[in-house]
Amino acid sequence: MSDFFIGASPEHIKKERAKAQSLRKSQWWKRKLNEGRCYYCEKSLAPAELTMDHKVPLARGGFSTKANLVTACKSCNSDKQNSLALEWKPEATDESS
Ligand SMILES: [Zn+2]
Repeated sequence: MSDFFIGASPEHIKKERAKAQSLRKSQWWKRKLNEGRCYYCEKSLAPAELTMDHKVPLARGGFSTKANLVTACKSCNSDKQNSLALEWKPEATDESS
């Protein structure tokens, strides 16, 4: 069903991360933060409690586009990352040698 994508190139991730950084400063993002809602659990939260999340992770070839960026509360963000970490095994990590 979902395409089996094994890791985006470091260049892709770097480039899209930079895009995300600049979008973070945009009015569009500020407006989203002010809406104060987590995309995943739909809880209402203060802007400071929200983080930027990529629906399709950059590591999977996702892009930093408005359509792919959502506000997520810290717990959803880390839950999501944990489950993806289990699901997605990078070929090489810096931490384990
Ligand atoms: Zn949430």
